[in-house]
Amino acid sequence: MSFKSLGLSEPILRAISKKGYEEPSPIQAKAIPPILEGKDVLASAQTGTGKTAGFTLPLLHYLSENPKEKFRPIRALILTPTRELAAQVHANVKDYSEFLNIRSTVIFGGVNQKPQVATIRRGVDILIATPGRLLDLESQGALSLKRVEVLILDEADRMLDMGFLRDIERIMKLMPKKRQNLMFSATFSKDIKKLAYSILNNPVQVEATPENTAVEVINQTVYRVAKAKKTDLIIKLIAEGNWKQVLVFTRTKHGANRLTKKMISAGITAAAIHGNKSQGARTKALDGFKKGRIRVLVATDIAARGLDIPLLPHVINFELPNISEDYVHRIGRTGRAGASGEAISLVSADETTFLRDIEKLIDQKIEIKILEGFEPDPNASTEPIKQGQGGRRNSNPRGKSKSKNSGQRRRRRNN
Ligand code: ADP
Ligand code: MG
Repeated sequence: MSFKSLGLSEPILRAISKKGYEEPSPIQAKAIPPILEGKDVLASAQTGTGKTAGFTLPLLHYLSENPKEKFRPIRALILTPTRELAAQVHANVKDYSEFLNIRSTVIFGGVNQKPQVATIRRGVDILIATPGRLLDLESQGALSLKRVEVLILDEADRMLDMGFLRDIERIMKLMPKKRQNLMFSATFSKDIKKLAYSILNNPVQVEATPENTAVEVINQTVYRVAKAKKTDLIIKLIAEGNWKQVLVFTRTKHGANRLTKKMISAGITAAAIHGNKSQGARTKALDGFKKGRIRVLVATDIAARGLDIPLLPHVINFELPNISEDYVHRIGRTGRAGASGEAISLVSADETTFLRDIEKLIDQKIEIKILEGFEPDPNASTEPIKQGQGGRRNSNPRGKSKSKNSGQRRRRRNN
């Protein structure tokens, strides 16, 4: 299968080959044809599978082959849950449209809106936006969505996780009823299906599932450890292994900050990335990590979802996720494209149930290690930690709502 055989125009093919892509990824091969036919599409595939090009390439094809007025009303709206993702998608759109007469811009909160408004006034074909800033500018009369022909919801699962449902519904009402709708998501939950039914018309559903084969090539290890020893253990592993690019997951923003501080005091360059960080801080952290200035990036699940970080040799779960599916997403950050990666989880007694759920989901037993001096606490309870316990400002609805098969997603606004 080649990009050419999908029927994309020559300037788009040129941009693709400039990016060095040789052939469409599985989700691209599945999603591009129905989008080119003008159908509504619901697509799901794991992070890192090329979903952005999956919707951007056919969108660019449609817009450039069907030019409209010179004054450029907004013809396509791409909604993303966070500023980083909006910026990332915009960078992709710019790359892929390099040889086309298409204009695009991005708007998001947390920065001065004046330049954003000025760019829109000059006319853009594609607007990439986070819901909040979009509604803001629309209500100020700075932009109109009345001419939108294509709506794209990127990282739709995360939008739901972050509580954007209301905003999305409000935005729907500002657009013409007749339009093409595309929804892209890393996961495929009941909530996503519900949202899809309310937005999409007769959608074609395409999926490139996170095969277990991907999980199988990843070297997975669990270190059983006393909760109080986790920080020392992670520092020892990173320092003694001389690991250079490590993505660490914590369950909470608070936990991410705390761990980052301890790493820095231990002489390991580290930065946290989560929803409470300013735009500048997040961009700087991500950039520093990609360029190798920062060895350790500490992230929450929601902050990491969708971020385009290349192949990582090491992913560490400082805490296991309470949603088993998130484990697969987290460790999917390593061992991509056939290269082998290592995923390590630090597991204390109270996470025993999470571990069991994860092993059930991935249908394999994870090798368990115990390091001398970092043994698990034999007296610790195996009861899952409940909300507000142990000084943990945890927003996850865990504890009593934790079901036996906790593979399904739950609302996590504050991570
Ligand atoms: P997702 O949205 O599914 O998480 P992205 O769209 O961010 O994934 O793409 C992940 C990475 O894969 C990006 O660096 C992108 O440039 C690259 N990529 C996308 N499509 C292809 C392709 N067909 N061949 C090679 N690399 C690709
Ligand atoms: Mg994406």
